Amino acid sequence: MDTLLKTHNKLEFLHPLHGFVDRASTSSHLKLQSQEPRFGPRKPNLKWRKNGSVKASSAALLELVPATKKENLDFELPLYDPSKDLVVDLAVVGGGPAGLAVAQQVSEAGLSVCSIDPSPKVIWPNNYGVWVDEFEAMDLLDCLDTTWSGAVVYIDDQSTKDLNRPYGRVNRKQLKSKMMHKCILNGVKFHQAKVIKVIHEETKSLLICNDGITVQASVVLDATGFSRCLVQYDKPYNPGYQVAYGILAEVEEHPFDVDKMVFMDWRDSHLKNNTQLKERNSRIPTFLYAMPFSSDRIFLEETSLVARPGVPVEDIQERMVARLRHLGIKVKSIEEDEHCVIPMGGPLPVLPQRVAGIGGTAGMVHPSTGYMVARTLAAAPIVANSIVQYLGSGRHLSGNGLSSLVWKDLWPIQRRRQREFFCFGMDILLKLDLQATRRFFDAFFDLEPRYWHGFLSSRLFLPDPLLFGLSLFSHASNTSRLEIMAKGTVPLVKMINNLVYDKE
Ligand SMILES: Cc1cc2nc3c(=O)[nH]c(=O)nc-3n(C[C@H](O)[C@H](O)[C@H](O)COP(=O)(O)OP(=O)(O)OC[C@H]3O[C@@H](n4cnc5c(N)ncnc54)[C@H](O)[C@@H]3O)c2cc1C
Repeated sequence: MDTLLKTHNKLEFLHPLHGFVDRASTSSHLKLQSQEPRFGPRKPNLKWRKNGSVKASSAALLELVPATKKENLDFELPLYDPSKDLVVDLAVVGGGPAGLAVAQQVSEAGLSVCSIDPSPKVIWPNNYGVWVDEFEAMDLLDCLDTTWSGAVVYIDDQSTKDLNRPYGRVNRKQLKSKMMHKCILNGVKFHQAKVIKVIHEETKSLLICNDGITVQASVVLDATGFSRCLVQYDKPYNPGYQVAYGILAEVEEHPFDVDKMVFMDWRDSHLKNNTQLKERNSRIPTFLYAMPFSSDRIFLEETSLVARPGVPVEDIQERMVARLRHLGIKVKSIEEDEHCVIPMGGPLPVLPQRVAGIGGTAGMVHPSTGYMVARTLAAAPIVANSIVQYLGSGRHLSGNGLSSLVWKDLWPIQRRRQREFFCFGMDILLKLDLQATRRFFDAFFDLEPRYWHGFLSSRLFLPDPLLFGLSLFSHASNTSRLEIMAKGTVPLVKMINNLVYDKE
């Protein structure tokens, strides 16, 4: 966090203590997890300048961004009643996918739950993409609004990879409605506020909210995403950052097959007339991620996979405009846009600690890809079962004893080892320029599907990551092998060191 703050003083979206501030007042600022309303002149059509003034074009593109309004779900929320002075079994701070999933499952077992969020009814703002098999395994296929039979990766102008793995876009309205509906049926109470502080007593905790209300709970779960509201960290926080800018747009036409989503487009021919951008992209590359919904409606996101410090969003927007112009994509209107900053890797929170955690706050984002939705939804039953098991059924654990068992179930040694390996992957990716990144993914997507599927979906456990590494090495070109050895040695030593010191 500090790194990004210092290096890009323009990016004033980070809170020195809690991470991210959930506001962005102008369209050139990054915003996180929130779709703040924006105002300003709107132009009916994007002017594509022939003189190549890319900066001017990105301003023109941004002028098409609508003044988004937060859309609310139509639910009558059962509210938490502070006058009753009740101690609920579980207070979940944060109503994102991670928090609601646990609230739903713990309440299903008959425990009392309070969900605290400043905007409990607002539909989540992020455009989530997942592999279909991940949602199928959780019986959530009804929460995908579009699926593609496969995905394509453009390594460069000559080489593409066809990924035979269906991909889907999450219907976030449906997913949130489904979870909220179940929460309400199960008796979850909602409190609309921000938690600002927690005070722990031996058997309960007091959550102080910004409206002056105190919620009392036997167990507190921090599910506040990357704002990391309550969970404590004791090591310097030095993540890599995935930064992306996306638009859901109506276009005149686009060149992509509507049956395939574009997982990564690493081509850079759009930059051939712009030496500075080309040079920046050669050092720290960005790729296009695209979900074509029809011949004239498409989600387009220019993405820096991971960099430290993060690539400034203005740079990403310039690259995107140059790419779209090169691809002949003329944007007629923008339905919504997305500014994405995902901290990746870095240390895990203090394990264990009194406040339990899940999702972004608990270090669960995939350190090499930035993906997390499927992983947290799959982990929610683990956290929920722990809480139900340790709090109820005659065991009546409380306080530190209980939360330490919940942390243990969330981050068992094999998961921590897996994360170390993924952080090692991130450390290598951080060092790769465009050419090396292309060579890396060229070899990566040639691996047996079980390896690359497993890597992307956090399903590889030791010794599989070692076999994966060996297989990747054997598929790599000689240049790529030398690169991996040269750039991977220090991260490898760091990983081995961390593995040796991390005991059960
Ligand atoms: C723009 C973007 C796009 C992404 N796309 C994908 C994707 O395609 N696929 C994927 O797998 N992952 C994606 N991710 C990563 C990750 O899956 C998401 O960030 C996901 O929303 C994390 O879920 P969460 O429940 O942990 O946190 P969040 O969704 O961030 O929810 C946290 C909630 O906590 C609330 N909160 C924060 N502070 C407080 C407080 N003090 N008191 C009370 N409530 C509080 C917030 O209002 C929010 O509702 C994306 C991330 C971003 C930022």
